[in-house]
Order: sequence, then C-alpha cells, then structure tokens
Amino acid sequence: MLTRFESLNELKIRIYLWVIPCIVISLISNTLLQNVDGVHLFEFTINNILAIWFIMSWFFLYKRLFIPFTEYSNLALVSYYHVTTFFDAVRNYMVVGGGSLGDFIIWMPIITLFFFLTLGTKRGLYYSIVIFLTTFIMGIMYLHVLSTESIDSLGQYYFANLVYIIVLYYAQHVFKTYADLEMFKKHAYYDSLTRIANRLRIDEWLEKKLKNFEEKREGFSIIFFDIDHFKSVNDNYGHKIGDEVLVELAELIQQHLINRELFGRWGGEEFIIISSTAGEETVKLAEDLRKIVADHHFKGAGKLTASFGVTHSRQGDSIDSLLNRADKGLYQCKSCGRNQVSYIK
Ligand code: GH3
Ligand code: MG
Ligand code: MG
Repeated sequence: MLTRFESLNELKIRIYLWVIPCIVISLISNTLLQNVDGVHLFEFTINNILAIWFIMSWFFLYKRLFIPFTEYSNLALVSYYHVTTFFDAVRNYMVVGGGSLGDFIIWMPIITLFFFLTLGTKRGLYYSIVIFLTTFIMGIMYLHVLSTESIDSLGQYYFANLVYIIVLYYAQHVFKTYADLEMFKKHAYYDSLTRIANRLRIDEWLEKKLKNFEEKREGFSIIFFDIDHFKSVNDNYGHKIGDEVLVELAELIQQHLINRELFGRWGGEEFIIISSTAGEETVKLAEDLRKIVADHHFKGAGKLTASFGVTHSRQGDSIDSLLNRADKGLYQCKSCGRNQVSYIK
C-alpha cells in the first residue's frame, strides 16, 4: 500500500521529469547564443557537460534509478549553474554593457522549484534564502559600477526571487495535501492484500451503475464468486498461503478481464465483477473464469475451484436486492457440489 512518503516521492519525480527538460532547453539555448571564443570556451564546455548530465539524470529518474544521488547531484549543479550564470550576467554583461539581466529571470522559478522539490518545505526555504543572499551580495558588490538600468533590473530580479520563494513555500503545502489525498484515496478504495478495489469502492460502482440503469436504461450484470473450501486451505497450509492464494486469484482474474469489467474484493474469499454485458454473455464470462480457476495451479495450495453466482440489473433494484440474487446463485452452486456457475434472472 502506498505510504505518504512514497506518494510524495512519486509526485516529486513526475515534476522533475517535466522540469529537467526545461533546464536542458535553458542550457542548450545558452550554448547556442554564445560565441565559442577563448573567453567563453570554459562556460560553453560546462554548459554542454551540464546538459548531458541532466539528460542522463532524466533517464535515471524515469527509470527510478539512483534517486537520492541524482536528486542531490542535480541540486548541486542547478545551484552552481544559477550562481555562476548570475555572477557572469552581472560582471560580464551588466558591468561591461550596462544593460539588464535579460532572460536570466525566466529560469528562476524553475530553479527555485528545484530547491523546494529536493529539500522539502523548510530546508528548501533556508536553501533558497542562502542562494538568494549569495546573489544579493554579488549584486551589492558591483552596485557602485552599475548603470541605472542595470540597478533597476537587479532590483526586479531580487523582488521576483523573493516572490517565487514565498509562492513556492506555500505551494509545498498544497503539494503535500495533494499527496496525502492521493494516499488516502488509495487506502480508502483499495484492498491492502490483493490491491484490487475494496467493498467501499464496489459500493460506489454499484450505486453509479444503478443510477445509470434508472436514468439511461444502461443494464449491467454482476458475477459474485467465492473460493470453494477455502477454510481448508488455511487449515492445511496456513493463513499465509491462504493470503497468497487470494492475491494469486485476484491477479489471475484480472488478467482475464479484458472488456473493462470492474473487479473487486467483497470480503474474505468473495469477489465481485461488474460487467456491462447481459444474460448469457455474462454466464459465458463466468463459465470461462470458473474453468481458468479450476485449471490453475496455485503456488502454495495446488488445485482449487470457485463457485459463481450471476445476475443482472432489474427494474427497482437496490444494491441489497442485486447482491441477494447473486448470493442466491452462489448458494445454489455450493449446495449442488460447487465449482459451478448459477444464473438467477
Ligand atoms: P465454501 O466452499 O462453502 O465457500 O467453504 P469455505 O471454507 O470457503 O467457506 P467459509 O466461509 O466457511 O470460509 C471462508 C474462510 O476464509 C474463513 C476465513 O478464515 C478465511 N478468510 C477470510 N478472509 C481471509 C484472508 O484475508 N486471508 C486468509 N488466509 N483467509 C481468509
Ligand atoms: Mg468459500
Ligand atoms: Mg465465503
């Protein structure tokens, strides 16, 4: 089951996969704009090395490999790139040319986002402030030789940087809330053992299906099935093997549901399939699944069978009436020898 930490990390990696290409574009555009003369050769080489590293790091993150190493290397390189580019812009362009910082400001939100993503809310805030102060001191050092236009541009840069830090600091809270919500949804709707939908989710599906049936006459069927003599699996092989059988069965059934049927664990060793098919077509699906289960060799428990109760939506049905009919079908199978499908019209 997904923990808060895992879901936050997953979201973080998804953001990196969008942000890193932006950094690569920034590096490449920087390289293309430069003349490769003696003065800029060092910068040109560094830009290319950084671009290659970021492309590699994108693949590492995409493949979920060396995540902490990649994250912290990227953070160090992004910080280095940011501070040196800023220093270069002030010393070589503003002091010499008297102009503005230019497109440098465009990449700042992405760089600040990187700090918060990698370090989290508090450490991200402290780190952003340290980087901000570094660039602030650099700017102050050259203030006396800068033109009015350059000073204006620097002022805008500092102001924008502070705004980004504040916005991203609060955005982190939204980000964490989103990750929590994702996790709670997973916990609330999925069965922790088999990782398929649980009873709560199935109830919601059934409610929606019944509503559609009432309003749009879209009929549906349910297949309610239960493993035969499952208690003896636990008794003979132990509860752990029993659990493994449930997981294996859920996977087996899922592999064979190809028409977007909804599938979940009702409880214990009982499962439900909701299908948009009707009548004989659903019976055939249940019959196919019955055979698949009976032919399967379960790793720890060998051969097993299951019984299937099938029914379809009727005028005025509620979840209870629908399930009662399917359960009646199941009961018929159990009393007639098990490993069967029973259809209740
Ligand atoms: P029948 O053929 O009539 O369905 O017999 P059965 O033994 O399968 O039926 P019964 O309902 O008597 O037993 C179901 C058993 O499933 C009892 C319970 O201990 C076991 N069970 C329920 N949930 C779990 C679970 O999550 N893991 C394991 N290992 N066993 C479970
Ligand atoms: Mg059973
Ligand atoms: Mg049972």
